[in-house]
This record gives sequence, C-alpha cells and structure tokens, in this order.
Amino acid sequence: MKLGNLEFHIIPDGHCYLDGGAMFGVIPKPLWEKKAPPDARNRVQLAMNCLLVYSGGKRILVETGAGGKWTPKLRDIYNLDGPRLLDNLLHYGCHPHDIDVVINTHLHFDHCGGNTRVEKDRVVPTFPNARYIVQRGEFEHAVNPTERDRASYFTENFVPLQEANKLSLLEGDRAIAPGVELIRVPGHTANMQCVKLSGDGKTAFAFADLVPTTAHLRLPWIMGYDLYPMTTLENKKKWIPQVAREEWLALFVHDPAVPAAYLRQRGETWDVEPAKID
Ligand SMILES: [Zn+2]
Repeated sequence: MKLGNLEFHIIPDGHCYLDGGAMFGVIPKPLWEKKAPPDARNRVQLAMNCLLVYSGGKRILVETGAGGKWTPKLRDIYNLDGPRLLDNLLHYGCHPHDIDVVINTHLHFDHCGGNTRVEKDRVVPTFPNARYIVQRGEFEHAVNPTERDRASYFTENFVPLQEANKLSLLEGDRAIAPGVELIRVPGHTANMQCVKLSGDGKTAFAFADLVPTTAHLRLPWIMGYDLYPMTTLENKKKWIPQVAREEWLALFVHDPAVPAAYLRQRGETWDVEPAKID
C-alpha cells in the first residue's frame, strides 16, 4: 500500500486467543458470539497484525506481536501459534538488523513480545539497530503495573531495551518520520498511542487497542481489559467518525479477518468495506 512516498505492509505475527467475555466487556455473549465464535474454553481468535513502514529512508516496524519467550503453560492458555513476524518480514527482504525504528503502541505482551529474544540465556533486543519508541507514561506504568493489569506486562519485553539504551520515551504526540505520526490516545491504558500514516493526501490510521477488531466499532463494545473505559468511549467518538468522514484507511491490529477497511457510518455504528492490502 502506497501513500505518496510512504509505503507500508501488514505483517501478521500469528494469533492469540483471549477470553471472549473480557474482549467484549459489558456486551452479552449472545451478541458477541455471533461476531466472534468462541472455542470450547470461551476464547476468541485474535490476530496480531504488525506493520512494516518505509518512510524517509527508514524501515519502521509498528508492534512486534507476542514473540517467542513463552512457557508451555502460557502458550497453551493463549493458544499462541506464532511467532511469525521475523519470517514474514523476510518475505519483504527485511532482516532484523534492517529495522531502524520499532513503535510499540503500548507494552501489553501481545504488542511488544517480539521486541526481545533469548540469546544464550540472555534477553537481547530482536532488532539490534532499532530505536524503540513508546510513551514515557506507558513505560513507567509497565515497570510498576497494578494488581489488575500486571498479567499483561512482562518486563523482559522492554526492560532489556532500556538497559541497552535503545528506548525513546515520548511525552505526547510526535511525528517520527515523514508521514508517520504517533498520537497519544488514552483509554485502554493511560498512555497508549495510535499511529497515523499519510502521504499524497491519503491517510491510514492504526487504531491499536482503541478499536482492536471491526466488531469493536460499535461504541459500547469496549474491552474489559481497558483501564479507563469511559475515556475509550470518548476517544472512539472522536476518532472513528474522523476516520470515516475523511475516508482514511482503518487498520485493525487484532481482527483475524479484516486487517484493513474503509468505514461508512450507518446510524450509531459503522459498516466496513474491507480493503485489499498486500
Ligand atoms: Zn493491550
């Protein structure tokens, strides 16, 4: 997909399965199970879609999936079938040392697990030449999470980056390359960031966990994981209409069937027109 001089590809890392009730918050199961059929353990299938962006001579990776540092027990709980990120990057001739920048929208394990890897009993950055970019507030929370959300944060995914002096901590919105803007959008966590890609009058917007799947376009469909669900609601009411009205391409990190779509408003929700992206 090209937006003027900016080019990007969707790079799947594989799937994880999360509890359907937690994925859809207050929405009753008879409604959500039509959109996301659960397995025998009440889990729904989720993609982990990363992005490879070429802009201003840089190779930028958005999200790194769940990575490979998993115990068999947790691999079973989340039914992980990856990691596939590195193999899928190779389809584009992209080796780990070619990545210049890694953007983590936030530091939950399904977004930054591939940041690091194990090498001879040590955890090291997977992308040795990259700067890793995350909001400062997200990092500070991730190293000191609450009892409610600490299961989502594994320090091995981000503390080794700080030790290797590879982390850049942002405070608010920032353009990090031509047509690549990071926008702080709280709700899911206090300092999650979305990614806006633009060029030649065209725009794509990565919702991250503000709208993780197309089913979450409905305003009250907000994940139980969200720390600030009313802020998520406010930000959905701000960003979804803008994406639809301005005909931006919407990117869904966790949708297993529709990673990219254009949105058409219909009453209080939005219809999706899936877009083909290679
Ligand atoms: Zn998350």
